[in-house]
Amino acid sequence: MLTLTRDDVRLGCRAADWRGALDQAAAALVEAGRVSAEYREGLLAREAQSSTYLGHGIAIPHGTPESRRYVRSTGVRVLQFPEGVPWHDGSRVNLLVTIAAQSDEHLDILRQLTHVLRRDGVTETLARATTADQVIAVLSREPVSARLDAGTLCLGVPVRDHLELALAAAARLRHAGCVDAGFVAAIAGQTPLPLGQGLWLVYSSSGVKTPALALATPTQRFRVDVGEVSGVFCLAAQGDTHRALLVRLDELLARGDGAGLAELPAEQLLARLSGESAQAQTARVRLLNAHGLHARPAKELVLVARAQTAQVRVRLLEGSGEAVSAASLTSVLSLGARRGQTLVFSAEGEGAAAAVVALADAVRGGLGEPVTPLQETREEGAARTAQAPRAAPVEPVVPPGADEPLTAVPAAPGLAIAPAYVLRLPDFSYPEQAEDSTHERGRLERALDGARQQLETLVKRTVGGEVAQILSIHAEMLGDPDLRDAAFESIGGGASAEAGWWRAIDIAARVQEALADRLLAERAADLRDVGRRVLGLLCGVEMPMPPEQPYILVADDVGPSDVARLDTAKVRGLVTARGGATSHSAILARALGIAAVVGAGERVLALATGVELIVDGEGGRVVAAPTPERRQRTERRIEEQEVLRRAAHARRHEEARTRDGHRVEIAANLGNTAHAADAVERGAEGIGLLRTEFVFMEHSEAPDLATQIAEYGEAFDALAGRPLVARTLDVGGDKPLSYWPMPHEENPFLGVRGIRLTLMRPEVLETQLRALLMAAGRRPVRIMFPMIKDIEEFRAGKAIFDRVQAEVKAADVQLGVMIEVPSCALLAPTLAKEADFFSIGTNDLTQYTLAIDRGHPQLSAQSDAMHPAVLRLIQLTVEAAHAEGRWVGVCGELGSDPQAIPVLVGLGVDELSVSSRRVPLVKAAVRELTLPRARELAGLALRQPTAAAVREALEAV
Ligand code: PEP
Ligand code: MG
Repeated sequence: MLTLTRDDVRLGCRAADWRGALDQAAAALVEAGRVSAEYREGLLAREAQSSTYLGHGIAIPHGTPESRRYVRSTGVRVLQFPEGVPWHDGSRVNLLVTIAAQSDEHLDILRQLTHVLRRDGVTETLARATTADQVIAVLSREPVSARLDAGTLCLGVPVRDHLELALAAAARLRHAGCVDAGFVAAIAGQTPLPLGQGLWLVYSSSGVKTPALALATPTQRFRVDVGEVSGVFCLAAQGDTHRALLVRLDELLARGDGAGLAELPAEQLLARLSGESAQAQTARVRLLNAHGLHARPAKELVLVARAQTAQVRVRLLEGSGEAVSAASLTSVLSLGARRGQTLVFSAEGEGAAAAVVALADAVRGGLGEPVTPLQETREEGAARTAQAPRAAPVEPVVPPGADEPLTAVPAAPGLAIAPAYVLRLPDFSYPEQAEDSTHERGRLERALDGARQQLETLVKRTVGGEVAQILSIHAEMLGDPDLRDAAFESIGGGASAEAGWWRAIDIAARVQEALADRLLAERAADLRDVGRRVLGLLCGVEMPMPPEQPYILVADDVGPSDVARLDTAKVRGLVTARGGATSHSAILARALGIAAVVGAGERVLALATGVELIVDGEGGRVVAAPTPERRQRTERRIEEQEVLRRAAHARRHEEARTRDGHRVEIAANLGNTAHAADAVERGAEGIGLLRTEFVFMEHSEAPDLATQIAEYGEAFDALAGRPLVARTLDVGGDKPLSYWPMPHEENPFLGVRGIRLTLMRPEVLETQLRALLMAAGRRPVRIMFPMIKDIEEFRAGKAIFDRVQAEVKAADVQLGVMIEVPSCALLAPTLAKEADFFSIGTNDLTQYTLAIDRGHPQLSAQSDAMHPAVLRLIQLTVEAAHAEGRWVGVCGELGSDPQAIPVLVGLGVDELSVSSRRVPLVKAAVRELTLPRARELAGLALRQPTAAAVREALEAV
């Protein structure tokens, strides 16, 4: 969806020729900070390949793929040339929609514009527009097409009068919510018009909510005095939205396919009306691509279609889909096919059968994208219920049986027994259109007020902390004038309050998600959350409320904001169907001390709320409806663990030494300096990892020296002489900073992130190093660089460090390396000669060693840091460090894993840095060990072939 603001539109431009117009367009993009000046050449080069003129006075200049590197952020600038500009292909252009796109977004814009172009008088409207809002209204309005589907058919009506058939069709439209009683009354007064071949037509535009076409057929064709009757079409007309339908009907009659139409079953009848001929060969296939038929897979599809000897058409089985040419990219994109919908290919003549099979096969193969079988995600589910009530049903999932253990990924240790609270999003059903926009606006205003009040009450009830913060952000989102304006604009265009609101929310959320930043993507989830709260009020649907009693939350997946919202007094445990152990939600669950397993699979979502559950966050198991014996065993273990927890807590300020006296330092991981005092209170001997990017993400521009000194100073003060290990800014790739524009990357985890990024902006790194050293003063500070791959990068960072330290002269400083990239572990002997210490980031080290994205929805469950390959890299690192007298810490999540602690101690790791809450327990776990035993266990683990084998072997001893 093309989302434009007034700033994106420039009216009243003039240019003598197309080059002059392009120059202005390029300058507008540069001025908006979307591209650098070189992009102009890309625009010219693209134009030289072929004209970007679309038709109706609109051209869409965009750069060549090579020029994408000059794009800073995706965006559009619309330039209006009321007098027109002669284009190089002989046409005349009134509107330039100039696109700066980091990938193929221009095709989506194209898709939208293809709909715009179909409207009458669009050229004149755009050329004569006197306000930016007029241009935006034309370009941004969502395409509306008349509805024709199984719900508007009324077949086999037992009547013998064409007037009664007309009424039956009108009544069907009313029943389908497309028209009101006024429409039916208007039809009742009409005499049907003959279309020929036994078919008739009645139509009206009064009382129409959604444009639609109905067909009523009799049980048997009959004759009246004016001719034969086999069916009556009833058209609910609105503007020219029904035109395409009438053209198809006309073509059908011209082919002579009208005669037998009324005898066909509904599906074939709809196929005929979609433009598919009676002689066509067809093949249908379910679309499985995660993002539907977007630009890239659509392009693949078109290439396959063009390679066929027969001309292939394609339509969507769901909805009123017109069959369009499968060889036309814009037509294919205009289908807007989503995952789960069915594509029907049809072709006639020689090679038809082979052609449709080839296309169906190509879709099955994913059209160049990996595809997974249908398994509805939470957001897909929400989108489906909110927007597309006719989408395909989801395959049934069987819940786990009584006392049947389900394996899952251990995410946060702890055992819990409590009834399940299965988080299911409510079903919202509402009409898409409404007649009285003033009334709808009033309804929306009231719902917004109601939602605001709800949130205010909730904020008051929530005492401080991140939960209140998130709820306040929600309240702010409600007050966003852009959201409100966008919703009101849709309502003004005929949408109901619900549809207008949800559209505004959905668009805003998609824009957030498109930023490919996980933190921002989670903001999108917040937006949808807020959206549903308002929708609930509009539809009179209660939002799910967690029970008052303690419960175990079962959900498809939860974002950090969901986890932070959990009321820890009531939530005993957390079970998610998806997600991995190093996903940020799992990290937060650990920080909150909630027993959690993730990646338990779809079946847990089929559990009934209230069924008793056992969650074993350490063993990675969920058991529903346990037997009394299992329940008792678990209760006993919970009691034992509570005793251990209390004992660990009592000794939290003591050092962690093995029984034979070997000391391991236990520090805390922090993402916020404000929590440093809490970490000390929980027994942390220092901060082992300060994720400093949070300081940068809190601000709308890079925090200056004074701001950073104040932030870090807070932690040093709380630590009272204990060491602080700070990681320099680790952003880029999948977590960009809004004020640090980066070109789009196909593989952000393998792209410009961590030290690679900060070395590109040495002044940022220098300021941060200066702030850390100045804040430390005489207190111990350890600084480490993230994502180092070899000594060269370390030296580059160290050169900056040395320069700053020569000026600041902090008293107690060490400079180290995070071991997160396998190359760095393999080259540890060279690094150990120059770095003061290593801290192993097992989250990323595992991701890069096993080649599994740590947040991958399906694979991250396999991303287990106990993999022997990762353990061997840790071994290499420790050996290399100790050979040079350097110390090694582990700051990844592996350090909190009870099974891993003996192994890491046995491998010689000197420090474990874990979430604050885990500090007392990790200390207690170290105290259980002896060094020789830990070494034995480490040896055993290293000899295993897989992560599962490592865990099994350790469990067996
Ligand atoms: C790691 O990669 O293990 C690590 C500690 O860094 P982060 O989780 O912040 O990427
Ligand atoms: Mg990392």
